[in-house]
Amino acid sequence: MTSKLSSKMLEALHTAVPAERISTEAADRAKHVKDYWPAIAKWSEARIEAAAPVAVVRPRTVAEVSAVLRVANQGLFGVVPYAGASGVCGGVVPEGPAISLDLRELTGIAHFNPTDCMVTAYAGTPAAELEKFLNEKGFTTGHYPQSLPLASIGGLVATRSSGTFSSKYGNIEDMVIALEVVLADGRVIANKATPRAATGPRLSDLYIGSEGALGVITQVTLRIRPLPEARCFRGIAFADLKEGLAATREFFTKDIVPAVIRLYNAAESEHLFERVGQAPAGRSLLILGFDGNRAVVEVVERLVLETCQRHGGQDLGREIGEGWERGRFDAFWLEKGNAGLKVADAIEVSGAWSVLPEMYDRVTAALKPQVDQLWSHFSHCYGQGSSIYFIVFASDQSREAVLAKYHLIWKTVMTEVLAVGGAISHHHGIGMIRAPYIAEEAGSSFELLKAIKDAVDPTGILNPGKLGLKRT
Ligand SMILES: Cc1cc2nc3c(=O)[nH]c(=O)nc-3n(C[C@H](O)[C@H](O)[C@H](O)COP(=O)(O)OP(=O)(O)OC[C@H]3O[C@@H](n4cnc5c(N)ncnc54)[C@H](O)[C@@H]3O)c2cc1C
Repeated sequence: MTSKLSSKMLEALHTAVPAERISTEAADRAKHVKDYWPAIAKWSEARIEAAAPVAVVRPRTVAEVSAVLRVANQGLFGVVPYAGASGVCGGVVPEGPAISLDLRELTGIAHFNPTDCMVTAYAGTPAAELEKFLNEKGFTTGHYPQSLPLASIGGLVATRSSGTFSSKYGNIEDMVIALEVVLADGRVIANKATPRAATGPRLSDLYIGSEGALGVITQVTLRIRPLPEARCFRGIAFADLKEGLAATREFFTKDIVPAVIRLYNAAESEHLFERVGQAPAGRSLLILGFDGNRAVVEVVERLVLETCQRHGGQDLGREIGEGWERGRFDAFWLEKGNAGLKVADAIEVSGAWSVLPEMYDRVTAALKPQVDQLWSHFSHCYGQGSSIYFIVFASDQSREAVLAKYHLIWKTVMTEVLAVGGAISHHHGIGMIRAPYIAEEAGSSFELLKAIKDAVDPTGILNPGKLGLKRT
């Protein structure tokens, strides 16, 4: 692959997309290196410039995406999809010479079908815009990641995302009915939008979490639901985090599962208690959300509360839960924690119930000497286990030292999680930061992933280096 966009390649791109939507301007290119990956904010200008895409291309139609990929495939330059840039793992950072395929002009609702409870949107559509459109019509996707105000619908699919109401609505893979995808050679493929089919593997599943390395998602068809009749929140305090965890597991064995389950350790609980003027007193806070049919919500809420109380939980009422709900799109710690020579990140992983306590203890102990502060919470829970967030805060004397510490912290978490048999990401994906650990995470299935990549992208132009796959 070549590191400069030759006039011949530029000319070829002009046949795919009008000139005014192809930018080679330095500031525009530099902007397209960055997402919310904290490491990027510490990179020097020279490093950003070296990583910058050779051009930014802004297609507006599927035909234009297809034409760009055909050109890239012949010219052998990489194509890095870029949308909301809210990824937190460096997924949009080009690894080697590439164009940034900015999908933010490929937007709009293609179909809305209230009878079949389905909606189809172009991939660059802001997720919040889609949700607003649906809410106005009395529907919801039920997918509310904290980054809802930032992310695109295609990006949420490409990173295999989870929303805060996942215990009820599921994760993005539970919502996708069909995808339209452009392959490396420009071919456009799509599966049928039917509720289910037993006609071989569902090929759209391959693209959920593919991070631009197997194709460019251009349209997404999602299952939708009517807006719930009732929705309410509650807070429960536990003197012992592990009792909170035991109560949470019981929601699943008793089949009384709230829509939102977030169990914060004492350190992370503090700011939530303070937000509503309550004394934290070293307690762990369980935030619960319920929604759906009013009568069902009332019964589930009562049974959940009884379960918590049997485990020593103290009911704090609705206010603290509503306080969480009001601030649920506000990642206030992210900006503050990454100022100057500080670094902060949310490292989310997952594990089965039988390993969660050990995973929590091991990671917490191993991180202690490396971080200034550590918050943790359990959320996105299942009958089989849960995800854990480790929110790390660290600092050092120079940018290089902060970056070195940051990578050490990541290595610590990845190593401990792999040692106990957990998954190294529940929903943020791989990007650059998890790439070195994917071969170990995937084990024998990594060979299949490599074979699939070779089959769908033989020239290796699609987001080279991502999914832990080496650049060819
Ligand atoms: C404050 C904050 C809170 C967050 N909270 C959550 C949360 O609650 N749950 C959660 O799951 N995530 C969360 N995230 C992470 C982030 O929002 C997700 O990774 C999101 O899914 C990325 O969507 P995007 O449109 O911003 O994609 P981008 O960041 O632009 O891209 C992400 C990756 O997907 C690829 N990509 C993007 N669009 C396409 C496409 N159409 N076709 C193929 N590949 C594509 C890119 O190349 C890149 O590799 C949070 C991030 C922030 C900053």
